[in-house]
Amino acid sequence: MDFSTLLRTQAKVVKLLNNSLLKNRLVGIYLFEGAKGTQKIEAAYYFASLLMCERPNKPCGECLSCKRIKEGKHPRIFFVEPGGKGSILKSQIDDLEHEFSRVSLEEGIRVFIIKDIDKATLEASNRLLKFLEETSSTTYGILTTENLQNIINTIKSRSQIISFSKVPRDVVIEEYTKRGIKEEHSRILSILTNDINEGLVYSKDEKITAMIELVKAIGEAIWFKEKEPILVLNEMGKTLLSEKDKMYHNMFIDLMATMINDHIYYKLNQKNEITFTSVDFDIDCEVKELFTIVEKVLVYKQKIKYNVNVELMYMQMLIEVAR
Ligand SMILES: [Zn+2]
Repeated sequence: MDFSTLLRTQAKVVKLLNNSLLKNRLVGIYLFEGAKGTQKIEAAYYFASLLMCERPNKPCGECLSCKRIKEGKHPRIFFVEPGGKGSILKSQIDDLEHEFSRVSLEEGIRVFIIKDIDKATLEASNRLLKFLEETSSTTYGILTTENLQNIINTIKSRSQIISFSKVPRDVVIEEYTKRGIKEEHSRILSILTNDINEGLVYSKDEKITAMIELVKAIGEAIWFKEKEPILVLNEMGKTLLSEKDKMYHNMFIDLMATMINDHIYYKLNQKNEITFTSVDFDIDCEVKELFTIVEKVLVYKQKIKYNVNVELMYMQMLIEVAR
């Protein structure tokens, strides 16, 4: 577990947690809420480091506790997340309680982290509430969620809620470029996800890399008409056309719309907003016409939801956007 991204992107939360410890204002249960990619799990482990660090300069990053947390194997931190069926079950909370009721070989603070607490079944939530009543003063619980509104009030009222703000796009882009990803690719990843960890996985996905090249080539074909866009799709888009996972088709439509929006930014002289920085937009074209094209592309976002023949669908889309 590395906290450098957390420290940069959630400075307010980090300060709040640090101050809670310094000013002795700790509570037993925290509820970390915020959109996907806002570093809530990292913050949970950071908080655990603050609580468990053995040195005055917390978290020092060097003591045994800090080292164990970094390596993800602290024996007194328990992590629970939704299982195979996407829910947190009562049996998982039973297991958690069982772990806590054992006489620990090591005395000291214990922390449990429950990811996506909104996915807990009603039975599991009730079990958790009962467990919370029984925990000792050396136990801290951190619950996380992307959907605060789905959490039952009895859990909310027992917790201190800490809100995580969305990470600004330029910070996300910087996080990618810092890791050696090229500027344009970083900008494109920031369109595909707000979650830096997910973006790093995408950066290694060859299907996505090929898709980015495809979108650029289609763009050039639309603007410069040296080739039919449909021909480009058939030549470069074989993997995409045979792809079953809708995630990739959603991405393709998003990137197509982004590329056309880039053209609008170019015309409006807002060049720092451009994502596809290597595409040449220097051609005669009305902004109004571009807005119409973006709208046409975005209609396909709805169409992908149904089981349609994607090849036919994309051909139709490219005919509609051709100028
Ligand atoms: Zn330490």
